[in-house]
Amino acid sequence: MSKLLTNDNNEFLSNLVAKCNETLLNANAAVCFATISKSKQSGETMNVDSIETSLRNGGRISRAEAETLWKNASDEQLQRLANIVRDRYHAPKTATYLLMRIINYTNICVALCDYCSFYRLPKSPDGYVRSKEWIYSKIDELLDVGGDLFGFNGGFNPELKIDYYVDLFGSIRQRYGERLEFYAMTVVELLYIARVSKISVPEALSRLKEAGVRWITGGGAEILADSFRKRHSPLKYTVAEYMDTQQKIVEAGLSTTATMVIGFDETLDERLDHLETVRNFQDATNGGLFSFLCWTYKPYNNELGGEEIGAGEYLRHLALSRIFLDNVRHIRTSVLTQNANALKGLSYGANDFDVPWEDEVTQMAGAVIERDVQRILGYAAEEGFVTNYRHVARQPSAAALHVVQ
Ligand code: SF4
Repeated sequence: MSKLLTNDNNEFLSNLVAKCNETLLNANAAVCFATISKSKQSGETMNVDSIETSLRNGGRISRAEAETLWKNASDEQLQRLANIVRDRYHAPKTATYLLMRIINYTNICVALCDYCSFYRLPKSPDGYVRSKEWIYSKIDELLDVGGDLFGFNGGFNPELKIDYYVDLFGSIRQRYGERLEFYAMTVVELLYIARVSKISVPEALSRLKEAGVRWITGGGAEILADSFRKRHSPLKYTVAEYMDTQQKIVEAGLSTTATMVIGFDETLDERLDHLETVRNFQDATNGGLFSFLCWTYKPYNNELGGEEIGAGEYLRHLALSRIFLDNVRHIRTSVLTQNANALKGLSYGANDFDVPWEDEVTQMAGAVIERDVQRILGYAAEEGFVTNYRHVARQPSAAALHVVQ
C-alpha cells in the first residue's frame, strides 16, 4: 500500500483521537475513535460511490476526485472504476501486445539526470556509439523471432547531429522497408538534437520524416512537474518545452505517445500535475497521443538510489491513470519494470503491453528481462485475458489510429 495513503490516514486519525481526548474522559476515547473512524469510512465510500455513478454515466473525474480515489478507494474499487473507462474502448478480457527491442546506439549523454544508471560523459573510456552493422544485427535478431518494433534510445550526445540521424534512419527504412516499425527517439532527444544542430524542431522533424521516421515516443517525461525536474534533471527541459515539442510532433503529422515514470520521490501533487498535463494536451490535440505507458524507477547503480515502490502501488497508479486519462485509448502496462506483476495491470485498466527483448538503460538500473514470450502471455492468460499481437509495422496509417471515442 502506498506510503502516501498510509501517512495521510494516520495523520487524519491521530487528529481525531486528539480531539476526542480534549473533550472526553480517557475511558470514552476509544469509543469516540471507533465511531468517528466508522463515519469517515462511510463518507469515503459514499464519495467513491458517487464517482462510480458519474463514470457509469460517461462522466470524467476532476483532479480533486483523483486525489480522493488515490487516498480512499480500495484496490477492488480502483479496478472496477478503471474497467468502466477501459470498456469504453476495448472488449473486456482482451489485450494486445508487441515484441519490442530497445536499441541503445550510444550511451554518451550530457544531461546528468541523477536517476540515470546508463549514461557516460563524452571521452569516457566506456562510452560508445554503435556501428550500423551492430544495429542491423540487433534488428535481424528480433525479426527472426517474430518481433517487428524497435525503439532507438541514446542520450544527449553532442557529437551526433541531425545528419547522423537522417542517415541512420534513412538507411534502416531503405534496408527493411515495411517489415518493421521504429520509435526513432524520445521527445527530449528530438529537442536536444534540434538545438545541438542549430535548427528548429519543425525542421528536424521534416528531415526525419523524409528519411522514413514515423514515430517519436514520449520518453524523457518521467514526471511532468517543473519542481521534480529541477530536483533531478534540470538539463532535461521544462514541462513547457517538453509539451511544446510534443505539439510540434503532432503538427508535423508524426505519431507520438505519452509516458510517465513513478517511484522516485515525487509527491502525489506532482503525479497529478503529470496526469493533468497529459489529459489537457490530449483534449487540445483531439487525440494526438497514441498511448500512455507508465513504468517504475529502478534505483540501482545511480546517484539518486533509494528503494523501489511496491507492486501494489504501481497497479493502483495504473488504475488511476486509466480513470483520469479517459481520452487516451491505449493504456499500457510495463513488463520491463514489473515483470509478471505487469500482467495484473490488465485488470487495473491497461489494455496493451510490450514483451521486451532488450533495454540497456533499464537493465543497468536493475530491470530483469525474461525472454520467454509464451510465459509472459501465460501470466496474462492466468488473469483471464486473451492476447493478440499488435503489429505496428503493418498498420496502414499511424495517424488513422488517433481515434478518440
Ligand atoms: S536519463 Fe537519458 S537524458 Fe538523462 S542522463 Fe540518462 S541517458 Fe541522459
